[in-house]
Amino acid sequence: MTTREKDILSNIFEKALTGKSIFINRQVLRSDFIPGKLPFREEQINIIGQILAPILQESKPSNLLLYGKTGSGKTAVAKYVLSKFEETTKQHNKAISLAYSNARLAGSEYRVLVDLAHCLSMDMPFTGLPISEVLQRIYNKISDNNLKVIFIIDEIDYLAKHAKNSNDDMLYSLTRSSEHLKQGFISIMGISNDLHFKSFLDPRVLSSLNEEEILFPPYTVNQLSNILTERIQEAFNNKTVPLSTINLCAALAGSEHGDARRAIELLRVAGELAERSDDTTILEKHVKDASMKIDNDRIYQAVKTLPLHEKTVLKAVTSNDDNTTTGDVYNQYQKLTKKIGVEPLTQRRISGLLSELDTQGLINASIINQGRHGRTKRISSVVSNNIIDQVFEDDPIAKSLL
Ligand code: ADP
Ligand code: MG
Repeated sequence: MTTREKDILSNIFEKALTGKSIFINRQVLRSDFIPGKLPFREEQINIIGQILAPILQESKPSNLLLYGKTGSGKTAVAKYVLSKFEETTKQHNKAISLAYSNARLAGSEYRVLVDLAHCLSMDMPFTGLPISEVLQRIYNKISDNNLKVIFIIDEIDYLAKHAKNSNDDMLYSLTRSSEHLKQGFISIMGISNDLHFKSFLDPRVLSSLNEEEILFPPYTVNQLSNILTERIQEAFNNKTVPLSTINLCAALAGSEHGDARRAIELLRVAGELAERSDDTTILEKHVKDASMKIDNDRIYQAVKTLPLHEKTVLKAVTSNDDNTTTGDVYNQYQKLTKKIGVEPLTQRRISGLLSELDTQGLINASIINQGRHGRTKRISSVVSNNIIDQVFEDDPIAKSLL
């Protein structure tokens, strides 16, 4: 270790020991933190409360679908309402089971059901049983014990897109569970980040899942500023965050769709950058750097997890000039596949992969009208060569494309 490195380290440790950090509490900036107050969501909180209330009189609440873009407060609101609800049921000795599963993290309908079973204190193997058998065991448990269950399936849109077919069976069965139960019940609260989620569902499932639905609109820039101001009081020392910084975070997070997660993440990363450069206030420049860092990290992760052919196509796009055509990309791609010794996919498949890269925001593809010369697709890369180099360096096969 060089003297300089030692100095830097002792500096960091010193700062941690003396507690001279601009943060008072980093935890409250984590994305899974549930704040004590959720401004601008009173209406949604009220409606969910009203929908759940019948359960206190032992009757089954309607199934419910919450939907809205990422960072619009769906998970926070659902968890907030349920924790309040749990307090009430405990106070009044009502036996109600609350179960939660995040479908994206669970990864499959089977795992979602395993989460449910575990929330109901059942043993359930992590693999191996047919879905119908898992469902039957859960229904038996509910019937035998006259359980009243609310089951929240967060990021439920993941199932509709990734576990097509079979997933309809699970949702179909769960949303009509009363047909399988002698007593007790299970109500479903689905949460979707995707507004088009409903079009992925079997209409029969949809009609029973969205007996009630609640939309979470994106936050406005002003609302984001407000949310940030509240959070800052818990997270940072006084006077660490000037108003101009708050407004910039809100404006950046509001520019695509009013995303509170993005706003809070910007603030957290900006705080870390400020701290690292020994600044005592978080300035606009830290926010701008934070925004770039977050984008770069996201792109880096996305490129890293691409399969080999996608990586190769991406490399083909970046090694051509900006605004190349699908044909040019395909030619380049064929050359690159030779270099790494794999069979090229057909041009049709590559068109498909280009669309996927476009949806992931890794390339820009736009149709250009060339008047009487017709229309062509122009493609340019969003990923810097720097990131490509970093990712490909670590990939034993893609490495030889550099
Ligand atoms: P979604 O589930 O819709 O993607 P989340 O509920 O996870 O969004 O919210 C993202 C982040 O923003 C969380 O850290 C959450 O605490 C915060 N947040 C969302 N809405 C509010 C609000 N109304 N007030 C305060 N914080 C909020
Ligand atoms: Mg969520």
